Amino acid sequence: MNLRGVGVSPGIGHGPSYVLTVSVPEPPEGATYTGEAEREKERAMAALTQVAGELEARGNQAGGEAEEILKAQALMAEDPGLVVKVRSLIDRGLAAPRAVFEAFTKYRDVLTGSGGYLGERAADLGDIRDRVIALLNGQAMPGLPVAPEEPYVLVARDLAPADTALLSRDDVVAFVTEEGGPTSHTAIMARSMGVPAVVACPGATRIPPGVPVMVDGTSGEVRLEPAASDVAHAVGAATARQAALATWTGPGGTADGHPVPLLANVGGPAELDAAVAAGAEGIGLYRTEFLFLDRPEPPSAEEQEHAYRAALEAFPGGRVVVRTLDGGADKPLAFLPAATEPNPALGERGLRRFARYPEVMDVQLGAVAAAGGASVMAPMVATAEEAAWFARECRDKGLTDVGVMIEIPSAALRAADLLAVVDFVSIGTNDLSQYSFAADRQLGAVSAMHDPWQPALLDLIAATAVAAARAGKPCGVCGEAAADPALACVLVGMGVSTLSMAPSALAAVRAGLAAHTMEQCEAAAEAARAPSSAADARAAARAHLPGLDRLGL
Ligand code: PEP
Ligand code: MG
Repeated sequence: MNLRGVGVSPGIGHGPSYVLTVSVPEPPEGATYTGEAEREKERAMAALTQVAGELEARGNQAGGEAEEILKAQALMAEDPGLVVKVRSLIDRGLAAPRAVFEAFTKYRDVLTGSGGYLGERAADLGDIRDRVIALLNGQAMPGLPVAPEEPYVLVARDLAPADTALLSRDDVVAFVTEEGGPTSHTAIMARSMGVPAVVACPGATRIPPGVPVMVDGTSGEVRLEPAASDVAHAVGAATARQAALATWTGPGGTADGHPVPLLANVGGPAELDAAVAAGAEGIGLYRTEFLFLDRPEPPSAEEQEHAYRAALEAFPGGRVVVRTLDGGADKPLAFLPAATEPNPALGERGLRRFARYPEVMDVQLGAVAAAGGASVMAPMVATAEEAAWFARECRDKGLTDVGVMIEIPSAALRAADLLAVVDFVSIGTNDLSQYSFAADRQLGAVSAMHDPWQPALLDLIAATAVAAARAGKPCGVCGEAAADPALACVLVGMGVSTLSMAPSALAAVRAGLAAHTMEQCEAAAEAARAPSSAADARAAARAHLPGLDRLGL
């Protein structure tokens, strides 16, 4: 069986599928078993032992604090009191899954009631219970694999930033999600990890757990049980292409020497090495909210300063643009009270949250200033008044290079007004698409609206670039559009001055740009603006960019 979605992070990944489920259904009340009680008890005990063993193994592998937590969970799974309770419920006729459900739920409720540290452990008990029940029922395990035997293809409905915080490239060879568009956080995270990914893939969560899967993150094809020869062929072609692209090195620019600094999007210090290794010339978007997503307390000034300084040190002499916290909507920050809004993406998100919590912005801007030398920009800016307010706050802190993101159509349409009060703009094409097309970026069903070649999006980008050129101020693009080698040429042809993207995308964009002159980029930009559909815009632009085919891009 083959499935098809939208390829959002290039490359070939293959391995057994691991289907992520967030909840395990409650076994039916009063469910009984057939056969002997002793056998049913053995089944339950074997499942408890297996889950405990997996937790322990994962603990040994993780080390540190995680080891203690996982080993404590392993002990809970085999707690003598719980074991006795499960056995006695089976003796009374309940099937093993139901017996486990009742015994664990009772203990969990007792723990919850006791509050404090014990209360916090209640969630662990619920997690162990669901793992044991899934095992007994042959269902997909909830949560991420505890001790994967081999790297796997992670299949999910969608992935939230918090789900993926602990994922490692060593474990995950590819992502496939049923939901999510090309600008969803699954896509962004996959690119930043350099792991192939396909999103908006109907039927993905029906992939049976454990079957071999091959994911083509360029074409969007997901093949179940592929022949070994097909895997070898696809991997060989992708590796050869990567090797060819890697021969293009040095600063970004067109074939005729027009410089276009190529910068990296990062979400934390762990990503700096990859950005340097990929030849980034600086950081065009530091998504600072990713540093602090799960933190119950606001990050201290010192801790923030440390993180920003590390970025500056990774790129001595290079540009580092720190974006202030973009909390709210799909990136809730645990240390700010959750807003209960009917439409969070249209609510107090990004800069708007700072108006309510000015002390948080105060600390962050102070930390950027103390790190010395970084530029700063605000997300979710809709009006010139907001831009002016932000710029004043920054300048009061001594920051001298202050910008705003253009990610709302109102900001693009009146970019000149915003540019009158800031030093640069950076176009966030992900949100600019979301707000232009009224299409949720997390929703697979509307992913076609997030095609970055959409004519209306190109018009808004061009309008912004023209306003920036008139103001004599830089205009960057840091949304996912910048990572498409053909579109990167078009953006440069429109007058965009810098491009910022996941480090894994830099090689292809660098090679694509270097293969074309500024004149060709301008011709491609003009051609892309004429048609009325995304597909035609792309084809029209590519007709002026012959080097892309030569490079296999
Ligand atoms: C964007 O919206 O294009 C952007 C770069 O910001 P984020 O993806 O973090 O919302
Ligand atoms: Mg955005």
